Amino acid sequence: MKRIGIIGGMSWESSAEYYRIINETVKEKLGGLHSAELIMYSVDFEEIERLQHEGNWEKLTIRMIDAAKRLERAGADFIIIATNTMHKMAEDIEKNINIPLLHIADATAEKIKEKGLKIVGLLGTKFTMEQDFYRVRLREKHGIEVVIPEEDEREFIHNVIFKELCLGVIKENSREGFKKIIGKLIKRGSEGIVLGCTEIPLLIKQRDVPLPIFDTTEIHGKAAVDFAL
Ligand code: GLU
Repeated sequence: MKRIGIIGGMSWESSAEYYRIINETVKEKLGGLHSAELIMYSVDFEEIERLQHEGNWEKLTIRMIDAAKRLERAGADFIIIATNTMHKMAEDIEKNINIPLLHIADATAEKIKEKGLKIVGLLGTKFTMEQDFYRVRLREKHGIEVVIPEEDEREFIHNVIFKELCLGVIKENSREGFKKIIGKLIKRGSEGIVLGCTEIPLLIKQRDVPLPIFDTTEIHGKAAVDFAL
């Protein structure tokens, strides 16, 4: 079994899910008392969130490269970044380590293609929904078109992520708000919905959505196990 290196803590609410999903999947596949060989480098999210909102991606890139290098030195065989947003610097990280990085958008795209879908709605932080690093990768590398919510809806989703989900707060009216936004994405042609923020699966489940959802936390965690085994 390969040793998984996880850059986590963004937020720890979703890293805990990664830990659970990865171990459950190893147990499912190998049985008995098997569990994952993994090393997690977990950051202080207060600092990361501040730098994100200041737009200080340079400093964040240095922080992420440092975390990845520490995992490599500690003996990780490959790396996963347990957040969609911080894949913004995935290529910079890859260039600075000698072990593979398993990209969350690629793992998700494989699942979308397995279902034969061509257009998906994307929910995530404003960084993930608005900037190029995620949408362009889905389109150019995988031929998947992405529909994103309207500006006020993006603001709403972003605030729920940072002010509720990353703090472990789950609110029924936020779930209702997400469901309305998802309904509009479906009307605009989405054939499935990407939960492109690793905390959104804490709020939105398959039962809340009439079309297939792509839970990036689960998909990425399971892809890590497949790679490790
Ligand atoms: N975990 C979230 C994501 O998947 C948001 C936290 C962050 O900004 O890194 O994008």
